[in-house]
Amino acid sequence: MHDGRVMRTADERIAAALTVIRTAGGRVTSARGAVLRVLAAAAHLSAAGVHARLAAGGLPADLSTVHRVLNALTDVGVVHVVPVGGTLTYGLADRPHHHTVCRRCGTVRQLPPPAVAAVIEAATASGTFTTDLEGHDGGVVVYGACTTCPDGPAR
Ligand SMILES: [Zn+2]
Ligand SMILES: [Zn+2]
Repeated sequence: MHDGRVMRTADERIAAALTVIRTAGGRVTSARGAVLRVLAAAAHLSAAGVHARLAAGGLPADLSTVHRVLNALTDVGVVHVVPVGGTLTYGLADRPHHHTVCRRCGTVRQLPPPAVAAVIEAATASGTFTTDLEGHDGGVVVYGACTTCPDGPAR
């Protein structure tokens, strides 16, 4: 997995996200901190995936709380949303990245921005279009399949 050039620890990424929340006037709750910790350890997860990891970590929360927290984190821009099939997945948006998505198992991996620079250049070359890619939106999503997918071999 390519994780960008500037590596920060999970703790630093979480602390930065909490600062953004405070600056936006949001409350820093234990649930928000716990969800950020889960997301810092994964590329992207669905709400159910976050819920399962919280429970596995001994921090059970009900699924509606997880949804509420994810929506709040998305609203302040520390988390962004990438749809995978019919499921929304959530990831930390603190460093720009794009995504590959396995259509079979749904695993989301991150792509560094230079990997899609030519796409953005082509999309904006006419001067009549700008992309959301400077912001916190999900960016480019490339669909395919893991070469060694837990859900079976790629076709
Ligand atoms: Zn992402
Ligand atoms: Zn897969």
